[in-house]
This record gives sequence, structure tokens and C-alpha cells, in this order.
Amino acid sequence: MPTGIEIFKLLPKTNCGECGVPTCLAFAMNLAAGKAELSACPYVSEEAKAQLAEASAPPIRPVTIGVGDRALKVGGETVMFRHEKRFENAPGFAILISDSMDDSEVNARLEKLKLQYERVGLTLRPDLAAVKCDSGDAAKFEALINKVKEKTDAGLILMSDNPDVLAAGVKACADRKPLLYAATEENVDRVAALAKDNSCSVAAKAADLEKLAELTTKLTGAGVNDIVLDSGSRTLRQAFEDQVIIRSAALNKKFRPLGFPTIVFPAEMTDNPMKEALIASAFVAKYAGIIVLSDFQGESLFPLLVERMNIFTDPQRPLATTQGIYEIGGPDENSPVLITSNFSLTYFIVSGEIENSRVPSWLLVQDTEGLSVMTGWAAGKFVADAIGPFVKKSGITDKVKHRKLVVPGYIAAESGGLEEELPDWEILIGPREGAHIPAYIKAWKP
Ligand code: SF4
Repeated sequence: MPTGIEIFKLLPKTNCGECGVPTCLAFAMNLAAGKAELSACPYVSEEAKAQLAEASAPPIRPVTIGVGDRALKVGGETVMFRHEKRFENAPGFAILISDSMDDSEVNARLEKLKLQYERVGLTLRPDLAAVKCDSGDAAKFEALINKVKEKTDAGLILMSDNPDVLAAGVKACADRKPLLYAATEENVDRVAALAKDNSCSVAAKAADLEKLAELTTKLTGAGVNDIVLDSGSRTLRQAFEDQVIIRSAALNKKFRPLGFPTIVFPAEMTDNPMKEALIASAFVAKYAGIIVLSDFQGESLFPLLVERMNIFTDPQRPLATTQGIYEIGGPDENSPVLITSNFSLTYFIVSGEIENSRVPSWLLVQDTEGLSVMTGWAAGKFVADAIGPFVKKSGITDKVKHRKLVVPGYIAAESGGLEEELPDWEILIGPREGAHIPAYIKAWKP
């Protein structure tokens, strides 16, 4: 991103104020800080617009594969290390499906693509089908794509070095915006034309990084900008090193020809499924955009998905649940009312324990900006003068006849303040630990 002064030089400098701030300099500073959009200035020249768009383009281009809810966005990264800011777009996991597999194997893999897991309120699942032509037969490849397309709405990677085969494949699924794999030195012109004609992304594959940069330069020259990089390495050590060099070249050296997300193939690095999962996990950490696996096994896919979730959550933003009243087990006007903070883990533990108790209950979840009970209390966000107004406005008084509020044991010190804030309510000190909730609410009386 250019600095405020660099942007200022490109603005009209008339200080007309139509952008909402009094001076062009103030507007430039806001733009540099990401607090304003260039379109807010009606007088900026086309030339300045083009220059600013070029200068502010993300160093690693975001690329989207697929359409609708299952579209996968990769790239768009801005840092080498998560603690510097955050990682933006989690890598997609793809399962390999070949046209040399028999029907039952293809069906089994399509079933595995449906594997999904619920964790802290999120659905974790794999993302893509990598459909590969091993037969060399374009008609067979097209038939397989049609079958895959019918059975899943996941994004597709079409794999063949032969542009005629890729053309047959893309004809069957251009509406799903697949990734074409791969453009190489030999076929780049035809694959670039295919990608452009069908508005698809394309993977560039070369024998080393230098040749890869030449290849992407040809692709962008042909008007194809949605590119994914395959450095060609098929050993963990070399492919891992390539990932780091590509990320560093794009971010630290602003080297545009390598400013794209990557694709890696643990599937082609070992025949051992456990080693393959370990290799994949290295690429989740650094820095793959798409990870193609030979197969999905629940026991290795699940930890990979959890690893991905953990690395790609924003370290500056705790996982949070929406503020509100949660009904657990069909509560009525005599059911207990409990309150907790909106840190997701807290919410899932508390709601899980209430479910375990089988006592239908109302759970008030207060927005503490994702902080847990103790941290929210220490930060002044889960204290009497915040809880009181929230309970009054929540609407819980319309839902229950009694006026008894169970607060977490860890904020017992707030009970006096809460009695002042909520004079109609009796404040009950609940357990400190979630595990003790079932015993507590089983004994609860309205
Ligand atoms: Fe300057 Fe444009 Fe804002 Fe007017 S609208 S003050 S010209 S930046």
C-alpha cells in the first residue's frame, strides 16, 4: 500500500471536501490507513486511479475457485508470520479423483468429499475435487467431470497437461469456474486462451522458480491474472523451501511474477498415507493455497482441518458467539435463566453442560467482545454495570415468570452491583466450572 504522501501527490489538491474530510491530505491519510475508498473522491483522474490500483493491489493475488457457498478463496496474504497480523485465506484440501479409477472408487471418494466436522460452532470440511485425466481420453474425462459435478457442489480442479483434454473438461463445467491444471512452458498459449475464454483460474507449473516466474509473466501478458503456482518440486524439503521463497519474494521483494497462491501435491511425495498427512500439515503451516491429497481418511483429515482452523483464526479476534437469548431444550416460563460471556469456547462449554443436564434453560449470552468470563470481568466488559443493562434490554423478562438470574461463580464479586442494577432480580451465584452446571441446575427451583 502506498503511503499517505504518495497518495496525496496523485490527488487533485483542491481541498473541496466532497470526500467527507476537509482536505486532500486528510483523505490521502485515510486511504493509506484503509479507512476510506478512493471512489469517495469524484475528481481523481483515471491515470491516478490506475496507479493507485496497481500500487495498492495485494502482494499475493486472491484467487477464487468455484462458485456459490462452496467457492474457495486462496491467496490475499499480507504477512510472513501470523502474529504480525493474521493469515487471510485458509488453504483448500482437494481429493484426487482419476478417470482411471473404477466407478466404486470414484463413488467412495465423492462420499469422502462430504466428510465434515462441527467444532466451536464452525463446520470444518474439505474443499475441492481434483479431477485428473490419466486415461488420455477426453470423452472419459468429460464423463467423469459430469459425474463429479452432479454429486458435489465443491470446487473443481481439472488436471491434464493436454490442452485438448482440458478443453473438453472445461466445456463440461465452465459454469463452476474450475482451476485448470496446468499451464506449462509447452502448452501455455492454449491453456491461457482456455482460461481467458472461460474466465477460469489457471495453475502454472514449471521445473523451478525462475521458469515459473517466466511462465506467470507470459500468462499475465496474455490477460490471465488468476494464477496458482506449482513450483514443480515433489520432495517435502524442496517444496517447503519453495513455499517460503515464493511468499518472501511476493511480500518482501514485491516480486509480482510470484505474487500468487500456491498448489502442492503431498499425494505425489509419498505412498504412505500417514506421511502424506504429515507433509500436508507442514504445508498448512507454510504456505500452501491448495493441498491435493491422494485420498481422505477421517483420522488424518480431521486433525488437518483442526490445524487449519487454528492457524487461520485471527489472533487479534477471539472466536465469538452472537449476543442474545439462547433456548436450550425447549425452556418455558419457569425454566432457569443463566448468563455467560460470548467467547465461543465458553458458550459451547456452558451450553453443552446445560444440554447434558437435560433441564430446559434460557442462556443469556452477553457480548464481551469474545472475552471469556474471567478475562471479560477483568477487562470491565462482564461486570454489573454492563450485565444489568443487557439483561433489561434482552427481553428475558417477557419469557419467564420468575426473576432469578444465575451468574458464573467467577464473577461472584459482582453480585452486590447486580442487585443494584437489577433490583427486581435475585442474583444466584452459579458454579465456577462448566462441569458443575448439570448438578446445579437439576437442583434449581423457580
Ligand atoms: Fe480532495 Fe477529492 Fe476530497 Fe475534494 S473530494 S478534498 S479533491 S480528495
